Amino acid sequence: MKKIVAVGEIVVEIMATEPGDGFREPLSLIGPYPSGAPAIFIDQVARLGQPCGLISCVGPDDFGHLNMERLRADGADVSAVTVAPEGVTGSAFVRYRSDGERDFVFNIKHSACGRITRSTEGDRLLDSADHLHVMGSSLFSESIVALIRHAMDRVKARGGTVSFDPNVRKEMLTLSGMRAALETILGESDVFLPSGPELFLLSTATEEEDAIAEILDLGVTAVVLKRGADGASYYDGESTVHHPAFAVTEVDPTGAGDCFGATFVTAWLRGLAPARALRLAAAAGALAVTRKGPMEGTSTEHDIETFAARRHVAVTTSGMVSGTARGD
Ligand code: ATP
Ligand code: MG
Repeated sequence: MKKIVAVGEIVVEIMATEPGDGFREPLSLIGPYPSGAPAIFIDQVARLGQPCGLISCVGPDDFGHLNMERLRADGADVSAVTVAPEGVTGSAFVRYRSDGERDFVFNIKHSACGRITRSTEGDRLLDSADHLHVMGSSLFSESIVALIRHAMDRVKARGGTVSFDPNVRKEMLTLSGMRAALETILGESDVFLPSGPELFLLSTATEEEDAIAEILDLGVTAVVLKRGADGASYYDGESTVHHPAFAVTEVDPTGAGDCFGATFVTAWLRGLAPARALRLAAAAGALAVTRKGPMEGTSTEHDIETFAARRHVAVTTSGMVSGTARGD
């Protein structure tokens, strides 16, 4: 089975128990929950039974311990997660606004995450990898951008593939060289997984169709557009598949995109048909939003298969796709 590796932040998430605006007053919080987009992605891959590992850094504290234990217990290779003796594990405080938007207070760049560097363990993990997943949120400093570029070169030199979820925070786009780094990563990616308006982040187009054509022209094999509660779409230039979201009660949307992406990429690497891969990914995303806590939303292969097989939704396909509207 192909091994999937990611490089990036491990953090704990601490969330406000009541919706509202920001953190400018004392309020009730719940956490710590294991988190960090690449960590959630890798945890979901591990729960699907696919070999995987993460290159990251935590502090010698309970927040780091909590994350390491979860990833290890779920089957991820954490041999390249270093413990920085002087570091403190990253954190993210999150509060939902009543309109569903989120306010965050992040401590990532100046936490142990800022000490993620090239290491013997990291290179060893990359030398066993068949696929690298890149998260835009992980590109928070020049040194980690350089490490991710190194990881891409190393995995691609082995004949491996790359997927890219550009979930960049707005303030990161102002970092010098960020746009150029994102463009380079996109140009070398096999699978691109934007969410809603992120499709236009690295394109000059204003229409969805044009942006997809532009991205496929760069040499990207497949674009998978996440549309939240409106489902997801797959494009590879020859075929298109639209999968509506499964109807569930949303409890906490954080991490849905990571679980979706992890499941799609795993299914794609296993050689499943696009419609089937999209269906399983949509099931993983739907299951994720029903649970509170970002990494609490990851699911086993059995849970995802069972969920997808029991529900019927109208899938539309065009082109050369051979998919079915049912999970079985
Ligand atoms: P994240 O907040 O983790 O960055 P994202 O913006 O990258 O998320 P979304 O589009 O929100 O990704 O979610 C990914 C997929 O999960 C969707 O395409 C959909 O299939 C599923 N999903 C998301 N929200 C819901 C929902 N409320 N109900 C059912 N399915 C959902
Ligand atoms: Mg996202």
